[in-house]
Amino acid sequence: MVACAQVAHYSRQAARWGVKTGEVSVDLPAVMAMKEQLVQRFRSGIAGQIEQRENLRLYRGQARFSAAHRVRVGDDELESEHIFINTGTRPLIPAIPGLNSVDYLTNCGILNLAELPEHLLIIGGGYIGLEFGQMFRRFGSRVTIVQRRGQLVPREDPEVAEVLQGALEAEGVRIICNAQARRVEGRGDAVSLEITTPTGEETLTASHLLVAAGRQPNSDDLGLEAAGVEVTERGTIRVNSRLETNVPGIWALGDVNGGPNFTNISDNDYRIVYANLIEGGERSTKGRIVPYAIFTDPQLGRVGRTERQARAAGYRLKIGGIPMSWVARAMERQETAGLMKLVVNAEDDRILGAAILASEGGELVQLLHALMLADAPYTLLKGAIYIHPTLAEGFFTLMENVKPVD
Ligand SMILES: Cc1cc2nc3c(=O)[nH]c(=O)nc-3n(C[C@H](O)[C@H](O)[C@H](O)COP(=O)(O)OP(=O)(O)OC[C@H]3O[C@@H](n4cnc5c(N)ncnc54)[C@H](O)[C@@H]3O)c2cc1C
Repeated sequence: MVACAQVAHYSRQAARWGVKTGEVSVDLPAVMAMKEQLVQRFRSGIAGQIEQRENLRLYRGQARFSAAHRVRVGDDELESEHIFINTGTRPLIPAIPGLNSVDYLTNCGILNLAELPEHLLIIGGGYIGLEFGQMFRRFGSRVTIVQRRGQLVPREDPEVAEVLQGALEAEGVRIICNAQARRVEGRGDAVSLEITTPTGEETLTASHLLVAAGRQPNSDDLGLEAAGVEVTERGTIRVNSRLETNVPGIWALGDVNGGPNFTNISDNDYRIVYANLIEGGERSTKGRIVPYAIFTDPQLGRVGRTERQARAAGYRLKIGGIPMSWVARAMERQETAGLMKLVVNAEDDRILGAAILASEGGELVQLLHALMLADAPYTLLKGAIYIHPTLAEGFFTLMENVKPVD
């Protein structure tokens, strides 16, 4: 769907590249059908693999512990010396007065819309809110994002979030930060949200409301008390670095153990447990380098620590930063929104983290990830030969730009 929105965007903006197009509109049911087909293909592929395995049986239903090594699914009681909890998260619904009296959307409902929202109001300026916000703006909706904190994507460094915010606003997405949601009310077919900001009060009215205000772990209805499995104050399942819970023979993998909440991390959790249990390995989550991306345009490719996290951890730093407008390929593509930022340990020149906010930022950042995995200094890429003209060529200037900071 992000790709469909990109095509709509290019089509509308075609004149920028000297291409003439007519009026552009998006056939949302066609987009949804395409998405559904893809999802079903993946789903049936995985289900098929499960069915082919002898000794592997899929039970469809709500699982609940009845004792430490016993789980009930419907009428079946299953017992095992090894249990892996991998139940994920669901949308966190904030306690805003009136919210439960309206038909709001979450990340599930919005993926089944039959009609394009005239005005999509989004509570939450995290990656889910931003991805859907830009996507529906490009599909043709008016979009307003209301963010409680002073910054979008609050885990990222402020200048990264600021440039991303600028790019979204340039496309006509309205973003209101420092906004406290006070009350939601249904008004016929519309919904209104009262907010308070440092400049006063405002009532926003929209055709659709998307709640993207965080995630909560699916741990509360698992009967964990019966199993004696401990959870944290956030409700995530407490695990050690080998992903073992406090109960021997029970592991927790993926988002439900507190994440980071990404598919690649859930997969990596599985690999750690498999290596330890089946291959007699000694793997753990300690020192794991986490790459991820936010699929906005520009895309935010990230790996490792932000500058803020590196400072908090007490590192002496070198920082490199360049705008994408310095990168020849970005200029040629007329896609200069964004930046490249490198956070380096001044003691040994190892990369601690990077943010690449650019077209294909998610692809680009993995080159830096590889350097981190190799435990090589950033200077290896200084003066390296890059294919001309590519976006990765920007690393040449980025590496030259790395300087010690206070
Ligand atoms: C809108 C959106 C966009 C995202 N985009 C990205 C992205 O681009 N890249 C990325 O890496 N990550 C992305 N994520 C995050 C990613 O989806 C999660 O991190 C990932 O799915 C977590 O995998 P998991 O195995 O922990 O759990 P899940 O994939 O959530 O699977 C858990 C499963 O357990 C089932 N379950 C729950 N409780 C029970 C129970 N009691 N009994 C039986 N079954 C149960 C659930 O129904 C679900 O099927 C996105 C998430 C959202 C919401």
